[in-house]
Parts: sequence; structure tokens; C-alpha cells
Amino acid sequence: MAQLSDDCFAFGGPMMSVDEAVGLIAERVTPLRDIETVPLEHADGRILARDLAAPLPLPPFTNSAVDGYAIANADLPRGEARSLPLAGRVQAGAAAQAAQPGHAVRIFTGAPMPGGTDTVFMQEDVTIDGGRVVLPAGLKPGANVRPAGEDIAEGAVALKAGHRLRPQDVALVAAFGLTQVEVVRRLRVAVFSTGNELASPGTPRAGPQLFDSNRFMLMAMLKRLGCEVSDLGILRDERAALAEGLKQVAARHDLILTTGGVSTGEEDHVKAAVESAGSLVLWRMAIKPGRPVAMGIIDGTPLIGLPGNPVASFVTFVHVVRPTVLALLGARPAPLTPMPVRAGFSYKKKAGRREYVRVHLRKREDGTLEAHKFPREGAGLLSSLVDTDGLAELGEAVTRVEPGAMIGFLFYADLL
Ligand code: AMP
Ligand code: MG
Repeated sequence: MAQLSDDCFAFGGPMMSVDEAVGLIAERVTPLRDIETVPLEHADGRILARDLAAPLPLPPFTNSAVDGYAIANADLPRGEARSLPLAGRVQAGAAAQAAQPGHAVRIFTGAPMPGGTDTVFMQEDVTIDGGRVVLPAGLKPGANVRPAGEDIAEGAVALKAGHRLRPQDVALVAAFGLTQVEVVRRLRVAVFSTGNELASPGTPRAGPQLFDSNRFMLMAMLKRLGCEVSDLGILRDERAALAEGLKQVAARHDLILTTGGVSTGEEDHVKAAVESAGSLVLWRMAIKPGRPVAMGIIDGTPLIGLPGNPVASFVTFVHVVRPTVLALLGARPAPLTPMPVRAGFSYKKKAGRREYVRVHLRKREDGTLEAHKFPREGAGLLSSLVDTDGLAELGEAVTRVEPGAMIGFLFYADLL
């Protein structure tokens, strides 16, 4: 299951920019080829495996867009109002008879247009006078009619391979009368935490320990991306145990994700473990929070080692794990597009790296949105992720932000 070649993340410089990393991942990760068929009700969030061509036009037949009166083009009032006798009635779901020339047909929203008619007057715009309807002048021919195929023509590619299905896409598939779709099989991802200081929630915690939170955050993030997750618990800071743990799961997974132990301290053993179990390319990414991120290959299975600080782990997940998962699934590139908002804070940064600042949004009196920075900066502060709305993105060239400057903002909800 070789998704990556060993040298695929080799790069020249000492620090890789976020865009370089995302570009490399998209270019070099080989997508899975396994396809499965799922019923429509389980299609949301899955990646479409093949182009889907419309098996029928939408709408499938020409119909009225409103409740009203259908008439022939020849009977359209020109210049002044006109009264026509009423004959016939067609409601949604009923077959329409052809209209009698010179007559108006009572029609309802979604009902097929009677033969010979092409324009519908809204019921609000007419008056009924005995068995006749008085139609005002000024309506354009073809008004209030939905022609067959106006939404999607038969045979047109309605959804492309690699598209990540959303509820509205599922609606489109259903509108074609299909009950199932072909999607890429779910990605199997193994998740480990590393660190002697970690205790799993539900187990006793010794004084100098803290409960492992990253693993649950990362598993939840992976599930939002549609992955099947294996929870492999906590590995101790021992090179041999780490290497053994990683090697054991490689064959059964498409991706291995670890958190912690990727810095260059003496007790950061993930690097050495990956080197002994497979091969490693250690990235120093030009990103804050998050700089150390390891990428490696173990028996053909890619491994991503995220930093241990929760905020660094979160931010690097978004910029390294998310694109890798999407690339493995063959999903079409889904770039994150920051929304311009006004800065409500001042900030200094180094040029040459990208920074993500945790912010919440406030609406100003003029209706524009302003981003306010979480008051503290530590990469270990979980409350900073909990109490904010998203991340302000400060690009590589930026060195300072003053209140009132326009900056890019990403909602947490849009990151997964
Ligand atoms: P490391 O990247 O291993 O040097 O860890 C950096 C910081 O993140 C340390 O303070 C760790 O205790 C903390 N940390 C590491 N892993 C986790 C985790 N799974 N959950 C919560 N905090 C963690
Ligand atoms: Mg550690």
C-alpha cells in the first residue's frame, strides 16, 4: 500500500513554507483506488469516486413555477389587459391535457405545462370575472415557467470525481432518482499520543501527569474528515517501543498520526523511532504555532508526527493532515480561503513564517466584523481554542498588524 515514495517530501531549504508543504502533499501523495458503493443516506461527507453524469434532465419536464394561469404565447396581452375564458385545471403530479386555443388553464406550482401554453400569470396578478380571467399587460413570454433541463441538462457532468459530497450534493443525486453512489473507501488512520507525562482519561493520573487531550481532538478531527480511526492509545517516550508500535500498525492503515515527541529535545523520540521503523523527513515548517512536524514512511504507509502542544497540534493538523487525508482520498484540492475581516488588535511577528492567531469575531456598529485576539498566547492553552471562533492568518510577509488593518480569518467550522 505504498502511498508515498521515500524521498517524496525531500526539499531543499531549512524551513518549508505552508504553501510548499500543501503543494507537495497534493502533488506527491498517491490517492487510494478502492471504491465502494454506499446508499444515499450514508453519502454525506464521502468523496465521489467517478464523475456523475445526469441520467435525466432537471427539471425532468417543463412545469409552472407558480400557482396561476397558463396561456399560449399567441394569447399574451399586448399593450392592454385581456380577458380569456378559463378551461381546464392541472395540479402538481397530474398529467396535463393540451390547452384549448384562446383559453387560460388553471395551473399550480410544479404542474406540467399544458400543450400549447408557454407562459404563466401568477394568481396574485389576475382577477377572476365569472368563468374568465383578466390578465394584465406587460408579462414576458415564457414567464414563470421552468423549462425541462434548465437546471441541469441530461448527460451533463453534474458532480465531478473527487468532490466531497455535501447535503446539497446528496439532494442532486436523489433528484436523479439514484439510490446509491460510488465513493472512495474510508481512510484508515491510526492515532497515537506519545509522552510519559500523559494519562488516558479514565485511568489514574499521577501528580506530574496530565490527561491526554490531543488524541481525542485529533480523532474527532479525522472523523469529521470521514476517516475510520484506530485509537492506539499512548506510547511511552522510548524509541524501541515507539518504533515497534508504529511498525505494527503500518500494514493495517493508510496513515499514521502521532502527537508529541517531534521536537529536537533528548526526550523527543518519534524522529529516531521513525528512522528505525522506516524513513523520516523531518520538516521544520515556517508556521507558528507548530514548527516541528515530522513526515515519514513506514512500510509504505505515510506517517505524520504533530507537535504535542494542543494548539500547535490543532493548527498543523489543518495544514498538513487535512491536505494529506484529502489527497489520499483523491479529493479535489479544497484550499482554505480566509475571509477578510478588520483587526481589532495589534500584533508583531517575524517575517518569513506564517502565523495563526486565535481570535473571536465581534460585529461592529457599521455591520463589519472585527477580529479580537485571545488575550494570552501559549500553545498549550486549550481554552484559547475553546473560547474563540477561528484563526486569523498572518502571511509570511507581515511583520505587524495594527487595529483597523484587514486580515484573513478562518472559521474553525470551515477547517474540516
Ligand atoms: P512535546 O511535543 O512532546 O515536546 O510536548 C509539548 C507539550 O505538549 C508538553 O507540555 C506536553 O506535555 C504537551 N502534550 C504532549 N502530548 C499531549 C497530548 N496528547 N495531550 C495534551 N498535551 C500534550
Ligand atoms: Mg513529549
